[in-house]
This record gives sequence, C-alpha cells and structure tokens, in this order.
Amino acid sequence: MLNDNIFLKIIDKHIPARILHEDDLCLAFHDIGPQAPVHVLIVPRKVIRTHDDLTAEDAAIIARLHLVAIQLAKQLGLEKGYRLIINCKDSGGQSVPHLHMHLLGGRPMSWPPG
Ligand code: AMP
Repeated sequence: MLNDNIFLKIIDKHIPARILHEDDLCLAFHDIGPQAPVHVLIVPRKVIRTHDDLTAEDAAIIARLHLVAIQLAKQLGLEKGYRLIINCKDSGGQSVPHLHMHLLGGRPMSWPPG
C-alpha cells in the first residue's frame, strides 16, 4: 500500500540516510533493506507520487535519474552489470509514494523478477 512519504523526510534531512549523491534534481542513498550487495535508491527532489504521474515537464528529472545511476554504478564497481527498477503503484510493488529508481548490483540477477 502507498503509505507515508518517508523519502521526503530524507530529502528534507528530517531523518538520516546513507547518502551517496545529491544534486539540484535528485538524491541517491543506500536502501535500508538491501536486496543485493549494492542497492541504492535514486529519488527526485520533486514530489512525483508514481511513474504514472510523470509528464513531459519532468524529462530532465528522468534523464538525471538514469545518468546518476550510470555514475553510481561505476563508482560502486558494477562494471559487470546492474539492474534498474521502478515499481509503479500497488500491483507494481511500490510501497513509498514518491517516485524512485532502484539500482541493484553486485550479484547475478535472475529473470523473471518476483
Ligand atoms: P518500493 O517498494 O519500490 O516503493 O521501494 C521502497 C524501498 O524503500 C524499499 O526497498 C525499502 O527498503 C526502502 N526504504 C524504506 N524506508 C527507507 C529508509 N528510511 N531509508 C532507505 N530506504 C528505505
């Protein structure tokens, strides 16, 4: 279920996180419940509740999430590869109502995902 927006509290520095990257459009920090040796969340500063809520105005934000993923993958030693995931709404497995991209790596990924 979409519940409290904990990521806004991290962006506003009201609660701590292990932040890896910050810029004018987004933040990246380690996931609190890692599903792989590397599990980072890349989160726009703008409150966009789900992937479905993106508009053409948000093109620069989406581009930045991807570019930061590339930069962090290099920084974190994921030269063998990695997986990017955006869960959208309840059936997509989204639990935090603030758009975010998962960067997962450091182990082989299986397919199909659960
Ligand atoms: P999703 O299920 O796609 O909405 O992903 C939400 C992710 O946020 C999960 O992988 C959680 O482990 C992670 N998460 C929840 N609270 C925190 C937190 N305070 N700091 C870092 N990651 C969190």
